[in-house]
Amino acid sequence: MAPGGVCKEEIGFMAAATRPPSWFTSFGTLPHLHFRRDKNFYRRYDAKWFVFSLALIAVLHFAKIPMLLPELKLWYLAAFPAVLYFHIVCSLFVHNASHGSFPRAINRIMGELCGFIVLSRFASWQIVHERHHRYSDDQVKDPHPLLPGYFEFTWRGITNVEKQLQTAYLEVYGDTEENRARERTRAMISFSTNFVLIAFFYRLLGPGGFVAFFLPAQVLGWMFVMHFNWVTHNGLAKDGNYHPVNIDSGYYWLGNRIFFGIYMHGNHHKRSNVFNPLFWDDAKFGKADPVVKPYPVPKLEEQDAVPAE
Ligand SMILES: [Zn+2]
Ligand SMILES: [Zn+2]
Repeated sequence: MAPGGVCKEEIGFMAAATRPPSWFTSFGTLPHLHFRRDKNFYRRYDAKWFVFSLALIAVLHFAKIPMLLPELKLWYLAAFPAVLYFHIVCSLFVHNASHGSFPRAINRIMGELCGFIVLSRFASWQIVHERHHRYSDDQVKDPHPLLPGYFEFTWRGITNVEKQLQTAYLEVYGDTEENRARERTRAMISFSTNFVLIAFFYRLLGPGGFVAFFLPAQVLGWMFVMHFNWVTHNGLAKDGNYHPVNIDSGYYWLGNRIFFGIYMHGNHHKRSNVFNPLFWDDAKFGKADPVVKPYPVPKLEEQDAVPAE
């Protein structure tokens, strides 16, 4: 990120803004830049996913491709942890792609593919997450500002996504009756797209795979992502002193090693395009944030973060 919060890609995009957009240009840049430039970007984006998912269902149907897992089997229980891990990694990769952390040639495709699997789609993830970094821990403008209770925080964060997208749109294009009406139409397109995406996975997997893998992986995968957001903004402190922190002890030590350093979130907010903030290079990125210890959760009067030895 360059000084003033403008990333290199953003500068390049703004320079290119005078040229007519091409499919290639659109695919090589992050969605929030198109969102700010093109009033119809997001409705077209979701409409494309709607048509694409419908086309995939048609292919499965007309090619008579059988459902992969039509029945419930006991071995699914043993396979479920691997499916859940895969879902979580897809969320992590959408996050990395949101910051342009993959090589440019594959960044957008990784974001789109993983966003499809976790259902959110890349653009909404990226637009909302860009707001999280821009307005971190602002109780009004951060898409998921901290609340002391994890479940309360998770519920508000997930149900807030649609509101955040609308707010982001009205901030850029103006809070007018016309724009609110446009957003209502866009929301209908987005909800219909969610429905078709889910229908695709049902047709692909069949009732057994849908119930045993797809549904629980979506619920638990998203709960995991929200927990990570909560705990790395100092949710355990419960003193209102919410800010991005690095944690690396207990379970979080393991989590950092199997989930690409996600709990080193203080570092992540310093340099968001570092793929794995566990491997921090002080010489390149500046001094790392201190590691705080979340255990045991301190009593109210002792809640200052304890630096790791
Ligand atoms: Zn954060
Ligand atoms: Zn981020």
